[in-house]
Order: sequence, then structure tokens, then C-alpha cells
Amino acid sequence: MRDTLSIVISAYNEEENISEIYRRLKTVVSSLSLRVVEYIFVDDGSTDQTFNCCLKLQAIDPEVKIVRLSRNFGHETAMTAGLDHASGEAVIFIDADLQHPPEYVRDMVRLWQNGHDVVLTRRIDNEAVSPLYKLGANIFYYLLNALSDTPIPANTPDFRLLGQKYINFLKSFDERDSLFRGALAWGISVNHLATIDFTAPRRLTGKSKYTLLKSLRLAFNSILQFSVKPLYLSMWLAALTALFALGLEVDVIAERYLLHNPTPGYATIVITTLIMGTINLTVLTIIGAYIAKIHVETKKRPLYLADFITAEKPLEGEAAAEPEHVTHNS
Ligand code: UDP
Ligand code: MG
Repeated sequence: MRDTLSIVISAYNEEENISEIYRRLKTVVSSLSLRVVEYIFVDDGSTDQTFNCCLKLQAIDPEVKIVRLSRNFGHETAMTAGLDHASGEAVIFIDADLQHPPEYVRDMVRLWQNGHDVVLTRRIDNEAVSPLYKLGANIFYYLLNALSDTPIPANTPDFRLLGQKYINFLKSFDERDSLFRGALAWGISVNHLATIDFTAPRRLTGKSKYTLLKSLRLAFNSILQFSVKPLYLSMWLAALTALFALGLEVDVIAERYLLHNPTPGYATIVITTLIMGTINLTVLTIIGAYIAKIHVETKKRPLYLADFITAEKPLEGEAAAEPEHVTHNS
């Protein structure tokens, strides 16, 4: 079969981009041999006119569905919400700001219809970010892969197609904070999948919603989600401190008994106290971060609240329903 497709478009304050991404997607999709297509716009708690723009599209096109989250839950959660409401045999995730050129959807679908269950994209360049940001991103991926048990290739954005098997696989992750890229890499070797290279243009309009703080949080989160290695850092730090202490002791003894010039105690005490304090705090912070994760996971709170969902319906041509209030446990 392989002829029903859901396209999940996450949007947070993207009022100026909605109709353009819809138009471009529609053009591409019209050239494909697909029986049923749905465009799922996930409005991640936008405060601008994003929702109304989506409603307008829905009014003229029954293929458009909307999931509106009650507040801003973040990109990952928005994608999860889209996935929860997708009914195609394959799902494509795409950003609303046109940094993921919709034209690549053609190749993605072609590869999928030729038998690939997952099609990834690799960003060979990103015109929107500075060389400093790129350096930061490379360091992050290097650290992530050094620390993580699950290698995650650099520059593989969320712009990707997932076939049925992997949709089910991702849905089976019952985690509050699951990271799409990592979750997929955890299950399969993403290096062996079909990949399309592309250059990310600047966003059509608006600013990136990923502030430096959000990006850092995501980076930190991905390490915590997919690795417990930082917990063993204390072991290495303890070994290093022991070595340092040994060196210091040898030095103190040598200066006192061989050189007859004893080290003043004050400096040594300050240095060792500072080192021990720093190590203790570092290790405590790491343990705290993992405890926080356990805390969040054990509460089993719903991942998001959607306050508008285009009625769940069979894919083929039904009219949109009235707004409804639904809580989703996923
Ligand atoms: N986005 C979202 N929720 C957020 C932040 C971003 O749904 O809390 C959407 C955003 O509208 C865009 C996509 O996720 O369609 C990627 O975000 P952005 O372009 O700001 O990130 P960048 O491309 O700069 O990494
Ligand atoms: Mg972007």
C-alpha cells in the first residue's frame, strides 16, 4: 500500500509562515501518488494568529487537521502530539518556518514507497546560524556521543519520515521527556538508513524559538535521557583527586624533610578545600539532575493538554468538528 501520509507541522508563533508552508507542501504532494494525505498543524500554544491561520486552511481543505496545545509545551512535545493524532501509514515531521524545504518531501515519499521504513535528512549547512553556533553544536554532538550509549549523528534534524513500524516504536516510549532523535537512534542504527542531504535556508519570517537557554536545556536533557555515564564521573573525579592529593603530600613531605622549607599550611588548605568543594557540588548536581528526571517520570503526568483537536476521524473527507477539550495520556 504505502499510500497514506500524515505531515506533522509544529508551529509556535508562526502566523506568517503557515499559509506558505501549506501552499508549498500541497504543491509537492499533488505530484505524488498518494491516496490520502493529512496535514496536521500542531499549534504549540501560540500567542499570535497561528491558530486562526490554521482554522482558515481547515475551512477550505478537509485534509487539514489541527491540534492546539493549551500552552507552549515545546517542540518535542508538539511533535508527539502530532504523532498521536496521525493516522497515515507514514508520518513526516517538518518545521513551519520553511527551514525544512517542503520540496524534499517528494524524495522522502519516493524512498519510503521504494521500501525504506525511515528516511532521515542531514543538514549539510544551515544558513541561519553563525559559525560560533555551528562550533557549539559540533561540540555538543561530540560530547553527547562521547557520553551516550546511543550514538546520535550530528546535523540530523527532526525533518524525517517514519513508516508504520517506527511510528509504533516511538509511540511505545512511555517517557515524559523522550527525545525523538535519540529514541530512534536507540532502536536502530540510524547510520544505515536512507538519508537526504539538504541545506537549511533562513527561516521565511520570524525568529528562532530556540533561545540559547532552550538549546542548552535540550542539550543537557539529551545527555541525561540517553546516558548514565555522568553518574560515574564521581569515580573518575575521586581518582583524580586521590592522585592530586598524593602529589601534594609528596610535595609537602619533600619540602619539609628534604628541603627544610615547609609549605605554609594556609594555601594548601584553601586549595584542597576548593577542589573538594567543587567536586562535591559537581557530583551532587549530576545526581540531582538524574533524581529530577526520576521525579518527573514517576509522576506520570500527561505529556500535554490539547484544547482543540480537529475531530478524530477516518482520513477520508469529513467536515471539521466543534472544538473539544481533551486530555491526553501518552
Ligand atoms: N516550535 C514549537 N514549539 C516551541 C519552539 C518551536 O512548536 O516551543 C516549532 C517552531 O514553530 C518551528 C520548529 O518548532 O516550526 C523549530 O523551531 P525554530 O525554528 O524556532 O528552531 P530552530 O530552527 O531555530 O532550531
Ligand atoms: Mg527554524
